Amino acid sequence: MKKQYLLAPGPTPVPPRVLQAMSLPIIHHRAPAYKEVFEDVREGLKYLFQTQQEVLLFAASGTGAMEGAVANLFSAGDKVITVNGGKFGERWGQITNTFGLEVITVDVPWGQAVEPRRIADLLAENDDVRGVFIQASETSTGVAHPVREIAELVREREDTIIVVDAITGVGVFALPLDAWGLDVVVTGSQKALMLPPGLAFAALSEKAWKFNATSTLPRYYFDFAKELKNALKGQNAYTPAVSLVIGLREVLAMIREEGLENVFARHERLATATRAGVQALGLDLYAPDAPSNAVTAVCVPAGVDGQDVVKTLRTTYGVTIAGGQDQAKGKIIRLAHLGYVDDLDVITGLGALEMALMDLGYDLNERSAVRAAQMILRRK
Ligand SMILES: *Cc1c(COP(=O)(O)O)cnc(C)c1O
Repeated sequence: MKKQYLLAPGPTPVPPRVLQAMSLPIIHHRAPAYKEVFEDVREGLKYLFQTQQEVLLFAASGTGAMEGAVANLFSAGDKVITVNGGKFGERWGQITNTFGLEVITVDVPWGQAVEPRRIADLLAENDDVRGVFIQASETSTGVAHPVREIAELVREREDTIIVVDAITGVGVFALPLDAWGLDVVVTGSQKALMLPPGLAFAALSEKAWKFNATSTLPRYYFDFAKELKNALKGQNAYTPAVSLVIGLREVLAMIREEGLENVFARHERLATATRAGVQALGLDLYAPDAPSNAVTAVCVPAGVDGQDVVKTLRTTYGVTIAGGQDQAKGKIIRLAHLGYVDDLDVITGLGALEMALMDLGYDLNERSAVRAAQMILRRK
């Protein structure tokens, strides 16, 4: 017998309480029973997104909400800036290009955060920039971009909005939509929201809704205005992913019970312990200057292939983590610590990593990641 441990940056483990709620017989999405669930979900999402605005939901993976944000807020030929410091920043570039926007790409070396100065300069040089697209947490590199600072640059401009892919940000660290003046925040169900894949979310500021009123790009399923109109009547425009929405109600109740501030503190604590653990092994962080609290990207030691580490962890120890993509392939591993994760999950992940590294011939030299993490996580 071997247990399976999911320590990848999505999908993430689903709490038993949520699995149980989702296993109940399906209810009809136009019946009062669903309406009741949806009312709770709408309230809970506002708490989670720290906003008074409605949070829209779609039956899609997170990318659906990213595409929706482009299609609902801009018009062909609009000039936008995309921050490209990894696979998901690259995706903003692909989507905005697909919809015929004029894209200025800010290339950022992998493992680094964008410097707000670069965005400030571009905005100063281009007073017709209508949107800035960024990741709150670039999951492919483990970097947290300075969203708050960039939102401040955009906030003072009437005709520019900031669009934040917070798919591994929401529910991990603070991204208060209203307080920071974020214009669009999107996320998905299978990361910090502790659900199976299949729900995408988007919340818009008043300023972003004004952009929606004048945007002329084509859209059908991902029609934000239509979804808002329905949400205000306690409905979804189309058949929602009913079971996932029922699970979401449970997740939002859990987040409320823990308290959002405590949720953020837990993620910070787990991230801190993970970083300390891998550094104690003599490994370098891939994003030392701006590490995300969602996932820790670690450089594998010389002579070890990161893909072998991922494979050994999965096949020998039943632990699923992520490797690197593209230029980081084989060079890094990514240990996630977001969602339904606690202290002993981190200890498990680090312990398994030690074993895998030894199996692959890396001499730990008496060093211990587990011990370093324990010193941070023990409660006395
Ligand atoms: C997971 C993720 C996405 C979306 O991926 P989907 O497969 O569409 O859910 C987008 N951006 C970031 C930063 C992510 O971590």
